[in-house]
Amino acid sequence: MTDIYSMTKEELISWLEMQNVKSFKAVQIYEWLYDKRVKSFDEMTNLKKDFIEVLKENFNLGSLKIRTKQESDTTLKYLFELKDGNCIEAVVMKHDYGNSICVSSQIGCNMGCAFCESGRLKKVRNLEAGEMVLQILKIEEESNIKINSVVVMGIGEPFDNYDNLIKFFKIINDPKGLAIGARHITVSTSGIVPKIIEFADFPLQINLAVSLHAPNNELRNKIMKINKVYNIDTLMDAIRYYIKKTNRRVTIEYVMLKNVNDSEACALELCKLLKGMNVYVNLIPYNETSHLEFSKSSEEDKMKFYDIVRRHGITITVRREFGAGIDAACGQLRANEVIK
Ligand code: SAH
Ligand code: SF4
Repeated sequence: MTDIYSMTKEELISWLEMQNVKSFKAVQIYEWLYDKRVKSFDEMTNLKKDFIEVLKENFNLGSLKIRTKQESDTTLKYLFELKDGNCIEAVVMKHDYGNSICVSSQIGCNMGCAFCESGRLKKVRNLEAGEMVLQILKIEEESNIKINSVVVMGIGEPFDNYDNLIKFFKIINDPKGLAIGARHITVSTSGIVPKIIEFADFPLQINLAVSLHAPNNELRNKIMKINKVYNIDTLMDAIRYYIKKTNRRVTIEYVMLKNVNDSEACALELCKLLKGMNVYVNLIPYNETSHLEFSKSSEEDKMKFYDIVRRHGITITVRREFGAGIDAACGQLRANEVIK
C-alpha cells in the first residue's frame, strides 16, 4: 500500500480524478496531513465516511518510529526505525536564523567513499518520498520546533534515488504541504553526472552542492569510487552546464582530511579547477569516524587552505562544526547503534 506522505498534490489529484472525486479534496487532504497533522484518516472530518474508507483501502499514514534521540545545545540527532526494521537518521542544527534538518535519502549507500560511515553499509533500499517527509514531521512533533530549511546530506546518495527525491522536494515545497521555500532546500551529491544534468531542468530553485573533496583524479579516485565512473573533467563539465542552464551558484564541498587533501598544493590545484566558475567552496571539518586511516586537518592547515582559496577570489566558508560530541557526522549514530 502507498504511503500517503509519498503523494505529491498532483499525484493525489490524478488519483482522485480516477475515483471520480473532485480534485479540491486533494487540498483538504493536504491540510489534514500537513497543517492539522492528523494521525488517522478518521480525523479528516470534512470528508465523507465512505470516501475515508476508500482512502484507507488505498493508503496508509506512513510509519517512522523514533528509536533514539541525542541532544546538545546546537544539535538534535534522531535515529529512526522504518517499517521494515531498518534504521536511518536525521540531524537538526539550530542556528540563530532557524532550524535546519539534514535528512537521509537511502538505507546505506553504494558509493563507498573511503572516509564515510554511511557507505559502510551497502544500499539496502531507497527511501520512499514519504519516509523523507516523515523525518521532518516526526521531529517537528517530538521536539515542538519548526524546521526552516532542509539539506539532503544524511545517509545515502540522493541522486541515486532521484524520482523519490523529486517527489520529496515537491511535497515539502508545496504551499499546502510544508511550504519550505526552494531556496531553503539543498541537495548534496557525490557527483552522479547524468542526474546533475537532469536536475538542471527541475523548475524549483533548489540549491545544489557537489562533494568534490579532491582537486585531481588521482586523489579523488582514491577516496571516492564514483570518480572512476564520472571523473573530474566530466563532473566539472556537468556543473558548468548546470550553472549555465539555471544561472545558480553551486556549492563545492571539500572535506578536510589530514595529509590527504589539505596541502597548499591541493588548494592551488582546486583554485585552478574552479577558476571563473560561479561556485563557492564549503570546507567541511572531518568528523572522525571508525575509518581510522582518516583524521581531521589541523586548524592551521585548514586556515592556510582557506586563505589560498580566498586570495584567488573564490568565495569560501568553513562549515561550523555541529555535534561532534554526539556522533553527528553522516551515518555515525546509525553505525554506533546498528553495526556495533
Ligand atoms: N551522498 C551525498 C550526500 C550525503 S553526504 C554526498 O556524498 O554528497 C554529505 C556530505 O558529508 C558529503 O560532502 C560527504 O562527503 C560528507 N561526509 C561524509 N562523511 C563525513 C565525515 N565523517 N565528516 C565530515 N563530512 C563527511
Ligand atoms: Fe555515500 Fe555520500 Fe557517504 Fe559517499 S559521502 S558514501 S556518496 S553518503
